[in-house]
Amino acid sequence: MNLILIGPPGAGKGTQAQNLVQNYSYIQISTGDLLRNEIKLNSEVGKKIINKMENGEFVDDDIVNSLILKKISNEKNKNKIVFDGYPRNISQAKKLNQIILNNNQTIGAIIYLDVSRDIIKKRILGRITCEKCNITLNEYLDVEEIQKHKCGREFLKKRKDDISVTILKRYDTFIKETNPLLKFYSDNPSFFKVDASAKIQQIKAKIEEITNV
Ligand code: AMP
Repeated sequence: MNLILIGPPGAGKGTQAQNLVQNYSYIQISTGDLLRNEIKLNSEVGKKIINKMENGEFVDDDIVNSLILKKISNEKNKNKIVFDGYPRNISQAKKLNQIILNNNQTIGAIIYLDVSRDIIKKRILGRITCEKCNITLNEYLDVEEIQKHKCGREFLKKRKDDISVTILKRYDTFIKETNPLLKFYSDNPSFFKVDASAKIQQIKAKIEEITNV
């Protein structure tokens, strides 16, 4: 079964998805990563989305949906995807239901990682990613790991959109666009709300319990 992780930027979607990938053979599909990759490749899609991405605004549904369709229809991903950052609004959720149905797949759980604005700000402001191995650390919380980082500290960089104004914008966008999505899913028996201000290990255990992996 496929899984959906919903939460504001900094809620820990990526970290929790990585656990499912490393320990339970899931495949993480992050629309944020897919979109950043288009920008890196300087593709036609990349050129269209660069401004919106940098301003913390949502990219057009059609673009995101078509990137997702490619991943779901790929036989080797069948029923093994953990969606990270998708869907983000009702229109994307409806489209996802349709694509899942057309491809004879299921969504086993929709998990909302619920966390306050203050905690998110701190987590995101400190977030740095290694350009070489892609690991994400927090400069306030992972001081020791940063010192010992195997690729060297010079590769640990802040993401370009991780500046405070953009963070607030991304948070506000999330509230505005995604709250209706939570209402849309709230009647679904597979919808679960998890307290994501807890420690990573506790959230991990909760998700493992929900998904029964
Ligand atoms: P993320 O890495 O998930 O925080 O996403 C980074 C940025 O990518 C967002 O601020 C949006 O500009 C864009 N983005 C990612 N996923 C979506 C989506 N499902 N729909 C629209 N825009 C998205």
